[in-house]
Amino acid sequence: MPTRQSQWDALDNDVDLLVIGGGITGCGVARDAAKRGLKVALVEMYDFAFGTSSRSSKLVHGGLRYLEQYEFGLVFEAVSERRILMDLAPHLVNPLGFLFPVYDGHRHKLWFINAGMWLYDGLSLFRSPKTHKKLNTKEVAELVPHLNAEGLKGAPLYYDCSTDDARLTLENAVDAAHQGAHVVSFCKAKSFIKDENGRIRGAMVKDMFSGDVKEVRAKVVINATGPWTDRTISMSQPLESGPLLRPTKGVHIVVSAKKLSIPHAVVCMHPDDERVLFALPWGDETYIGTTDTDFDGDPKDVEATRDDVEYLIEATNAYFPGTPICKDDVRATWAGLRPLVAPPPKEGGSVSESAVSREHQIIVGQDGLISIAGGKLTTYRRMSAEAVDMAVRVLQVVGGEKRDLAPSKTDKDPLPGGIGWPDDDDHDKVRDQVVEASGGLLDEKTARFLADTYGMRALVIAERCANDQTLAAPLVDGRPEIVAQVHWAVEEEFAATVSDVMTRRTQLFYRDVDQGLGCTDAVADCMQALLGWSDDVKQESADAYRKQVAASRAWQHEEDAAE
Ligand code: FAD
Repeated sequence: MPTRQSQWDALDNDVDLLVIGGGITGCGVARDAAKRGLKVALVEMYDFAFGTSSRSSKLVHGGLRYLEQYEFGLVFEAVSERRILMDLAPHLVNPLGFLFPVYDGHRHKLWFINAGMWLYDGLSLFRSPKTHKKLNTKEVAELVPHLNAEGLKGAPLYYDCSTDDARLTLENAVDAAHQGAHVVSFCKAKSFIKDENGRIRGAMVKDMFSGDVKEVRAKVVINATGPWTDRTISMSQPLESGPLLRPTKGVHIVVSAKKLSIPHAVVCMHPDDERVLFALPWGDETYIGTTDTDFDGDPKDVEATRDDVEYLIEATNAYFPGTPICKDDVRATWAGLRPLVAPPPKEGGSVSESAVSREHQIIVGQDGLISIAGGKLTTYRRMSAEAVDMAVRVLQVVGGEKRDLAPSKTDKDPLPGGIGWPDDDDHDKVRDQVVEASGGLLDEKTARFLADTYGMRALVIAERCANDQTLAAPLVDGRPEIVAQVHWAVEEEFAATVSDVMTRRTQLFYRDVDQGLGCTDAVADCMQALLGWSDDVKQESADAYRKQVAASRAWQHEEDAAE
């Protein structure tokens, strides 16, 4: 695989399609278009999945709560995509049980929730990861002893899927590159190039490391910039009829599973406003989210505040009063922006944040710019296919394209880590192969972790460890992340900064007790050797990561100021 630098060096100045934005949507578009035979370039101003696509609730789900808003079309689409993604990325998209405790005074009775479960399973044509079950209070108490039992009427257990959002994005970026697309991180679209009729014909793009600028001419440009969508549109024309988006902020907090241990996800209603949120099991950790509040700042600066953290703690403690958590238990936080399409102004009041539809829209501007807005991580593949269909139509109608371009094939072809995955989805089988490929060097825990993270590509990592035992060393004592992952991140997954490795190639930022600060310098040393960094660049990259960690903890100082 080419590195990030070689992708920049080779960036073509004449392509069929230029994609701006390297989140799940943009990477999905690039993969889809390259597979159809288009010449594609994608530019991402930070790292792939830097934006919302590494800051979601990490679920591939139908969204049970949207049934309450009668969004049956959205739920049907999402549960269909859930099924497809389980096949395309079986290592990354895994069934997860959700317990939905219903209490006295709940806004819906238990029978109503149970009926909703049938509808949910029905919309998936009964191809849910598992069909839901009704649990009585005794069964619930056995399953989750710490759950508040007062007033509990029962709790359906239904199934959706968990994922690693950043890695799902990366696998799309990597596969797009395998198919011949130039995918360049740390490359910002600065301005558009237009023809004499005012049609967009490409963009001036800037290497965020060197400051160099290149011209990329393209027959069509797709704007996949998520929460930055309006900023990208306004690079071409003013937003005369107001912003397209209504971005809302969502925050999660991470605690050790020793503080809050749950065998399944638990659906909670916040005691103050009855908003739905989740407590989600995550191996040795548990995370809780999310909030939903309007946000009008710069998307890159979104962080958790003290109010956000307190709101999530309050909900958690209402559901698990016997094992309360406090602010000192919060190991990490993350905050992201939903790129929601703004609802039309309604008579007699505004729509609340949580009621804004999650449907997506594809809009073609007067200038020919195709913008994709709204949607979900879960539905990225379908959104991407629709956007590429639109780009192909524009190419044919306006560009006189004569080539016979294949239709989208992304519903069939697995992502790189899914190629060769066992049909019975037995993760332990792959684990055993990984142990064997490492010549017995990797223990079962590390091998399983690598299999779940990289799918069948974990075998190549294991072989590299067998050839060079230093690669099998853990990055943090007692944790499964190993040195080989830093090499893999740089050599196979375009990692270009310490933060890329700590946050989106591994999850040390979220999961390690000190958010990976203890191994930051070691990771920076390793990247220096691989990328030929000067000492200054190494220092800057390590310091930028430490700053990122500090920003995610800034809410703690807010508290100091307030008390
Ligand atoms: P992004 O991931 O934000 O990508 C846009 C990219 O464009 C960014 O990386 C940015 O750096 C880049 N960019 C911007 N301007 C430029 C420029 N000028 N040049 C180059 N690059 C540029 N969905 C689910 O299905 N399941 C969930 O569990 C879920 N949970 C969520 C929880 C929260 C808190 C939030 C906020 C969202 C959640 N979502 C979930 C929604 C989902 O995460 C988003 O819909 C999805 O990630 C959006 O992806 P995107 O590619 O459109 O945007």
